[in-house]
Amino acid sequence: METRSGTRADRIAVSRRRLGQWLLGITQSGRWLGLVNVLCVVGLCAVSSALLLDLRDDAARQADITSRSLIQLLGRDIARNIGLFDLALRDVVDGIQQPDIAALGPSVRQKVLFSRTSGAEGFGMIVVLDEKGDAIASSQAPLMSFNEADSECFRYFQSRSDDSLHISPPMISPNSGKPVVVLSRRLSAPDGSFAGVVAGAILLDYFRGLFTAVGADRAGTVTLYGPNGLIVMREPFSAEAIGTSVAETPSYRKMTGERSGSFRGPAMVGAGDRYFVFAQVGDLPLKLSVGLSPDEVFSAWRWKAISLGGIVLCLCGVTMILSWLLRRELGRRDLAERATAAVNAELEKLATTDALTGLFNRRRFDEVLAREVRRALRTGRPLSLLLLDADCFKGFNDRYGHQKGDEALRVIARAIAAGSDPTGDIACRIGGEEFAVIFPDTELASAEFVANRIRAAVAGFRLDHEANAHGILTVSGGVAQMPFRGIADDKGIVAAADTALYGAKRGGRNRIVVSGWAMPPHIRIASR
Ligand code: GH3
Ligand code: MG
Ligand code: MG
Repeated sequence: METRSGTRADRIAVSRRRLGQWLLGITQSGRWLGLVNVLCVVGLCAVSSALLLDLRDDAARQADITSRSLIQLLGRDIARNIGLFDLALRDVVDGIQQPDIAALGPSVRQKVLFSRTSGAEGFGMIVVLDEKGDAIASSQAPLMSFNEADSECFRYFQSRSDDSLHISPPMISPNSGKPVVVLSRRLSAPDGSFAGVVAGAILLDYFRGLFTAVGADRAGTVTLYGPNGLIVMREPFSAEAIGTSVAETPSYRKMTGERSGSFRGPAMVGAGDRYFVFAQVGDLPLKLSVGLSPDEVFSAWRWKAISLGGIVLCLCGVTMILSWLLRRELGRRDLAERATAAVNAELEKLATTDALTGLFNRRRFDEVLAREVRRALRTGRPLSLLLLDADCFKGFNDRYGHQKGDEALRVIARAIAAGSDPTGDIACRIGGEEFAVIFPDTELASAEFVANRIRAAVAGFRLDHEANAHGILTVSGGVAQMPFRGIADDKGIVAAADTALYGAKRGGRNRIVVSGWAMPPHIRIASR
């Protein structure tokens, strides 16, 4: 089917769509590029997020490992030193109950009883109190006379038959005036009744020095808890916190009943959440914990996340901008290609159109006829051709002038266009006042019918033509069909139609002659 051009509204719609495409680069390839770009950006973000989450887990794991090591180190030190101090207490308990030692003189007895007392820094003197609370022996000579009947450890054992090690809450030592915890054991008479107490103090400064020595000041909050959740030492040091009980806080309750572990819970002192790692100190009624705020755990990771995330976002942004620029360029190229194609189509149209009548020109006629002849030969379908010629047209020009002659040619073209089928037939001006219509897939009779309709239409305009015997503008035509009696190519069908046209002229003009009734001598007549 041969079409010419669309409507004005169609052209405006196309222009608008092209403007949008130019701006957004929406072409088929642009769409694919956009999709690939989005997938790349999503993939990059997904990989980066997975990497960052992994790094976050690593940071938490690392903090956990560091906290556990610190607690292990501190716990081992504290357990060993308190164990040694307790051994010294037990020696005194064992010795004082032996009659031989009890019978010794004060100076020898002091040496025998306190032979294991190391006097290490941070560990105070060991004192033996009798059942009334009076000091009866001490690791430091000479023995001073004092009564500790109202001391915490004395009252603790007075009311219990418990013979295990007792650790007091932090207190101020009445002897040294320094903060201490007192370790004590019960003295029992042979009948099991209360016979006194052996007690020794450990300076809180000992724990503080220990915390500092292992670098606890750089590891969040490190806390040593005594019995009943009493804080014995804390780093960073806070004098107010020492001696306060955290036994009722939810996080401490989680630690009771477990020897060691880790969890996230609310801070025991202060606000916010903490990651706790805790462990019991040996078999002593002491616990150690390290509490880290999420800020402390993730501060290094956060910087990594911000910088890596920033870089990834920048890369995504650059990728998207580059992709957009590329899409826009592709869109522009696509539009340019379409514009070139449109121009080419226009040029092609001009090259195949007759300027005077708007019908196809001779060049197009030759092309289409050759193509349709090949198709007819290939398919065996009929192909018909009509050649039309204005009658006595030289005379028309001579009588009315060349300009009127051109108008008359346009009138004939209008009649051809109106009489033929624009969707199937190909109407052409092939010479000065000569026209042709190609009828693909059309029998001779149908072509003859259309030819007569065109002829009648031209005559119907009733344009004065005094040089013509009919008095008005008329056309003559010859129609031929192939395959038919040896017509085997385009030249053959043109010659047959031309012969028929010649017959029409000879027959008086203003008529249509069908090939077969007017065969020229050079066309071989063959049966089909
Ligand atoms: P016949 O009926 O036998 O065809 O006679 P005729 O006069 O039409 O034939 P001839 O071939 O002698 O004359 C053709 C004339 O067509 C000659 C020329 O003046 C005229 N002609 C050819 N091309 C044009 C054109 O483009 N415009 C005009 N006005 N006349 C043209
Ligand atoms: Mg002619
Ligand atoms: Mg003529």
